[in-house]
Amino acid sequence: MSLERLQKVIAQSGVTSRRKAEKLIEAGKVTVNGQVVKELGTKVGPDDDIEVEGVPLEKEQPVYYMLYKPRGVISSVKDDKNRKVVTDFFPDVKERIYPIGRLDYDTSGLLLLTNDGEFANLLMHPKYEIEKIYVAKVKGIPRREELNKLRKGISSDGEKLKATFTKVLSTDDKKKTAIVQINLQEGRNRQVRRMLEAIGYPVDKLKREQYGFLTLEGLNAGEFRELTPHEVKQLR
Ligand code: URA
Repeated sequence: MSLERLQKVIAQSGVTSRRKAEKLIEAGKVTVNGQVVKELGTKVGPDDDIEVEGVPLEKEQPVYYMLYKPRGVISSVKDDKNRKVVTDFFPDVKERIYPIGRLDYDTSGLLLLTNDGEFANLLMHPKYEIEKIYVAKVKGIPRREELNKLRKGISSDGEKLKATFTKVLSTDDKKKTAIVQINLQEGRNRQVRRMLEAIGYPVDKLKREQYGFLTLEGLNAGEFRELTPHEVKQLR
């Protein structure tokens, strides 16, 4: 979830300037979820209820987007090293959106973003078992039986990792590479890369093609679209 400094959030809502917001906070005139907060560094998220001099700060409307994340972008709202982050693709979106889960820096594909904390938590919960479809280019040509091992589950760094479906989509016998599909309901850190590495086929390129019923149809890398209310309902 994206957390920001209280004075910044107050100023962004248009109630007052940041300097004045700081004065109001120090004077005990600001509450967060019913508690007076005088600490200037306090961080708040989109779900926190903020009141300034007894007047509730207007909450952002929940918004939901899918981005076709290109490779070479961080799945975050900020980066210490000033690398490109996924929210850079939304310069005109005023809501404080953040990614639901993450794709690796070098992974492209479908990434959801929202400012709705409850929705994000629901989708990131381990019990939320929506299927995600990944397509990977690997070094070497795996046999079907080798890929099938991933459906039974493998151990990696003390974690059991399991795919729900695997398939060799195509092979390049000259270059000794293959394109494989891996479906996952889980979402562990670098899961596809770790699983394919574990059976001896390191990933060269990785893309998330689908998130449940959502596809990237109509989008080019770097483009986004809003989810329809119906799609949001279907995901809940
Ligand atoms: N699996 C990975 O290895 N990387 C991703 O970004 C997503 C799934």
